[in-house]
Amino acid sequence: MIEPHGALKQGDGLLIVDVQNDFCPGGALAIDGGDLIIPMLNEWIHAAVEKGVPVYASRDWHPKGHVSFQSQGGPYPAHCIQDTTGAVFHPSLNLNEAVIKVTKGTRFDQDQNSAFDQTGFNQRLLRDKVDRIWVGGLAQDICVLQTVLEARTFRLKVQVLQEATRPVSPEGGGRALEKMRLAGAELVA
Ligand SMILES: [Zn+2]
Repeated sequence: MIEPHGALKQGDGLLIVDVQNDFCPGGALAIDGGDLIIPMLNEWIHAAVEKGVPVYASRDWHPKGHVSFQSQGGPYPAHCIQDTTGAVFHPSLNLNEAVIKVTKGTRFDQDQNSAFDQTGFNQRLLRDKVDRIWVGGLAQDICVLQTVLEARTFRLKVQVLQEATRPVSPEGGGRALEKMRLAGAELVA
């Protein structure tokens, strides 16, 4: 495993994608082992805070009856409904008060899997002088994938913390890693 203190430098940002109760075991859209990545993410958060590297955490934050829900013809069971326990960041994740939250999935008319999708997040990274992001979180083959691909369209350097992500399915995860690699992201252990 990469040692975060040694790896992080000025111009970096740490992005933790959707580590929310509903995506962890016991949640409405649970990903196998979703909570097992949290200790590693906590090490990265700790190192980032010590080194003055900004920490961003995205969250799926849906209105009731969101278009992505099966009740509306979407692919997913209801999950991450605003202000519910399921939408809260997992309590073991050590997000300190300095964390900058990126909220997505609030649109009534479409889903937003990428943390960059109509959130203005790229503008925030420019303002924070971040040109390389380290990315971990959930799920590897959905929101992490789409976030990484969109980051590459903004020409950001991307380091995917492979061991700090988990896929919905192993096959989907394998394909997602390959897509991210082909898009120019670096997969790191
Ligand atoms: Zn969602």
